[in-house]
Amino acid sequence: MTDILRLLVEKNLIEKSKATLLASEANSRNLKIEELLLAQGLVDEATLFDLKSKTLAIPLRKPEFQEIFLKVLELIPEESAKYYKMVPLSQKGRELEIGMVYPEDSNAQEALKFLARQGNFSYKVFLITLGAFEGLLKQYRSLKGEMTQVLAELEKEIDKGEEMPSRPRSQFERFVEEAPVTKIVAVILRTAVEGNASDIHIEPAKENVRVRFRLLGELHSSLLLPLKVHPALVARIKILSSLRIDETRIPQDGRFSASVGNIAIDFRVSTLPTALGEKVAIRVLDPTKALKEFDSLGLQGESLAKLKAAIKKPYGLILSTGPTGSGKTTTLYAVLHALNREGVNIVSLEDPVEYLMEGVNQSQVRPEIGYDFASGLRQILRQDPNIIMVGEVRDKETASLVVHASLTGHVVLSSLHTNNALGVIPRLLDMGIDKYLIPPTLSIALSQRLIRRLCEACKVKTKAPKAVVALVEKEIRSLPAAIQKQSEHLLSQKELSVFQPKGCKKCSAAGFSGRIGIFEVIAMTDELAQIVLSDPSEINIAKEAIRQGMVSMRQDGILKVLDGMTTIEEVLTATES
Ligand SMILES: [Zn+2]
Repeated sequence: MTDILRLLVEKNLIEKSKATLLASEANSRNLKIEELLLAQGLVDEATLFDLKSKTLAIPLRKPEFQEIFLKVLELIPEESAKYYKMVPLSQKGRELEIGMVYPEDSNAQEALKFLARQGNFSYKVFLITLGAFEGLLKQYRSLKGEMTQVLAELEKEIDKGEEMPSRPRSQFERFVEEAPVTKIVAVILRTAVEGNASDIHIEPAKENVRVRFRLLGELHSSLLLPLKVHPALVARIKILSSLRIDETRIPQDGRFSASVGNIAIDFRVSTLPTALGEKVAIRVLDPTKALKEFDSLGLQGESLAKLKAAIKKPYGLILSTGPTGSGKTTTLYAVLHALNREGVNIVSLEDPVEYLMEGVNQSQVRPEIGYDFASGLRQILRQDPNIIMVGEVRDKETASLVVHASLTGHVVLSSLHTNNALGVIPRLLDMGIDKYLIPPTLSIALSQRLIRRLCEACKVKTKAPKAVVALVEKEIRSLPAAIQKQSEHLLSQKELSVFQPKGCKKCSAAGFSGRIGIFEVIAMTDELAQIVLSDPSEINIAKEAIRQGMVSMRQDGILKVLDGMTTIEEVLTATES
């Protein structure tokens, strides 16, 4: 019996007879006992590797999306990595940190020693879980294969020529369009799209070019390239986006479209001069992700019903609020998508145009030449539109134009800067809108936040701690009666279960996969109209919100926690005010 089995028996995590059986099964099938335990679901990965780390006295590492030094990857060939389940985690000078699933395996240790001698490096060993190993191997494999090859080609070409920037421009341009640079850019774009990244950052540092990807709202380092490829890399992206490659001192913006996995994806590019060279940020605009249906946005119940009712009306103002990155643009696009049919004229004013939509006349405002939301809106109204989308109401003039457009029989979609749905009316009044104009024009005000969605494949059911139970009860008790009824059975149970993230192959060990919105929607009613006309304070509006059964963002989040979609922490962080 292996040490780990003995320990599991000691801790009463499995029975002795079962352990003996497992040991012989592992032996006859030539499997590691850990793999067998995990495959049969007898113990969870975190517990197993925690124990293992203590037994072996080797610290357990939880690698995330690691910085990958391409040169380092060559030191441990993929075949050895796969066979012995070990991968480099990081490098300092000639010392590597190696993550191993089976550091106790003497064959693996021998192999590592051999590779170290051959590659002239020293190393420290850390324990990693099987799931983490598989996640890392997958990332390494996809990047490494193509990148090492194209980088070798590129470096050869750079070394061949003299310093790049001093070459005549046309020659440099030609060079940039040659295969290796093009391939590097293609690999970066594909890695972003396939990994569901929302943004790509290409940043020059002192010794490397760092490529980072934003996943689920957080930036992860994932690739380091030699510094000398930086000028060519930036130039290639600038050419794609029709930017000036000889201008490196001022910021530039552009966009381009590229086909990734047979889907045309738009990329929005912005460059910024920094002390170390130009930084490039690229927003990935995947149209299949933007045009989500309402249900998949996370809109449910009463909120969804109010939105659906609002878009059936032939006119009215639909205002969406939330901070940057709260998904409000995606929601507006989803509404526009639902309204987009032949026979209606839809015109949008955007800053910037994020997703191109078939059948919608999208116009990008250019405040620097006097074409802003207000002047654009005046122009649009002469284009006989049915539906108008205005990116954001930022000033009095735009606010007034938006209200008048909806008063004259248009459906108008826009966003506004307020913390929640209750703040919309006070904000409109602040912006100088006459209170008599609000009841006949405002249809609904919607507010939202984005929170991370638990990975369905690995989320773990746990008993909710007392503090969480109290909080959930408080929020449920203040829900509108009808919804309270649906959730009451959960509270009457002996214990309340919630889910926690864990991490698996499918979610690259993150424990979360994708994001979902939490929403609150308040609709114009006769009662609300009375309040607007008499005393439109946030307190009075809040009373009306309760009367009309509004579910707040926090309550919507709690309902999603009870549904097992997310964690209580995600909801609390997003709805702190
Ligand atoms: Zn998972």
